[in-house]
Amino acid sequence: MLIFHQGWSENFDGPGTRLIFYLKGCNFRCDWCASPESIHPEPELLYTPERNRDRSGRSCPHGALSPEGALDRGRCRSCGDHACTTIWRNPAFEWAGYELSSSEVLRLAEEARDLLSGVTFGGGEPTLQIDALLETLTLLRHAGFHTAVESNASTPGFRRLPGAVDLLFADLKTLDPALFRSRIGASGELVAGNLRLAARLQSELRLRIPVVTGLNDTPAAQRELTRFCAALLELRPTGKLTVELLRQHHLGEPKYRALDRPYRLAGGAIPSRETLHEFAALLRSAGVDASVFA
Ligand code: SF4
Repeated sequence: MLIFHQGWSENFDGPGTRLIFYLKGCNFRCDWCASPESIHPEPELLYTPERNRDRSGRSCPHGALSPEGALDRGRCRSCGDHACTTIWRNPAFEWAGYELSSSEVLRLAEEARDLLSGVTFGGGEPTLQIDALLETLTLLRHAGFHTAVESNASTPGFRRLPGAVDLLFADLKTLDPALFRSRIGASGELVAGNLRLAARLQSELRLRIPVVTGLNDTPAAQRELTRFCAALLELRPTGKLTVELLRQHHLGEPKYRALDRPYRLAGGAIPSRETLHEFAALLRSAGVDASVFA
């Protein structure tokens, strides 16, 4: 699997203390995305000049870093060793993208077994690497680890997940095809059907709705999403549907600068906490178990 980051998570990406792996590559281009380094399915370099203490430029042996701290990204693209991170370990540079095999993931989980409640895979969109993901989930579950996956629920690969993972987090952003195109840069045509499938087949299922200005923060949009969630609830063999509302933020903005990409929502308004609590109340009135992370 191609990973861009791994770390620890506590009671947010599944129950208890978890090892989490973020898979690189995504079919969406959400304009509020807080992990822009997750999107391209190739390794890439982040450079944060404010962290650079190298006044000689020697932490790039290929001459891409000037003594003044300017980076020639054209040279980086042809560099095969990214010595700035592997040899010089200059904190201004971060290399996002490395391969981990399923047996390496299992080994890391085994090393931490005494501390772990489970292992979670996020992204990016992890179902774009569905074969490797399923192989890893199988190994982990056979070894007795609780597993979780976080997906945008939009791919054909998503349909292979229900029943193959202990806990499935599935995003619901909007059901409006025009908003899908303009704010997410993709077709969401598979999302509704995929979520219906997961509602029927996946016993531990949590929907996540990022509440975003102009996307789904209006009463009309929230009524439509609530109607859809109520219909999913009807399909649940458990009779229970959990929905988590996540508030939009701008914390990913520095990463756009580090990747030399524009952040289109800079300075834009974000929904109020009250908006999320009102949305949660609406969902609860439809029988959905809704909570707010704001
Ligand atoms: S990625 Fe390669 S070329 Fe770019 S700064 Fe690092 S060592 Fe230099």
